[in-house]
Amino acid sequence: MTAPQMSDNEVAALTHIRANPEGVLQSELWKDLGVDSRACSRVLKKLEDGGYIEREECRRDGVRTYLVKIARKDEKIDPMLLMAGETIVPCVACEEECNVEHCKMLEDWVYELVFSEME
Ligand code: SF4
Repeated sequence: MTAPQMSDNEVAALTHIRANPEGVLQSELWKDLGVDSRACSRVLKKLEDGGYIEREECRRDGVRTYLVKIARKDEKIDPMLLMAGETIVPCVACEEECNVEHCKMLEDWVYELVFSEME
């Protein structure tokens, strides 16, 4: 099996978006990720084309941007969303002080999720 062609920026964006189920503004995401806005747009386009995220156009402070969320194939809550293959999301039993943006456990889980969805 070949490794998924997902860049570090794509994994970081997906991790950040997944950690914010209410959605993140594209106009803020690129700053949070420490990349420029064009690079962020390319990353989000690739994730959107891959079916990982959804973007909804909106306005904030008079500026057009997008609200970015994890793609939902079904609006019902599906407990399988907590699973990456046979691995449950680590947050369920986590006792660590949470720092989502630098959490190796969550990042590893997102990698596993990507692998499992490619199978
Ligand atoms: S620190 Fe724990 S709760 Fe926070 S993102 Fe990581 S696994 Fe989840």
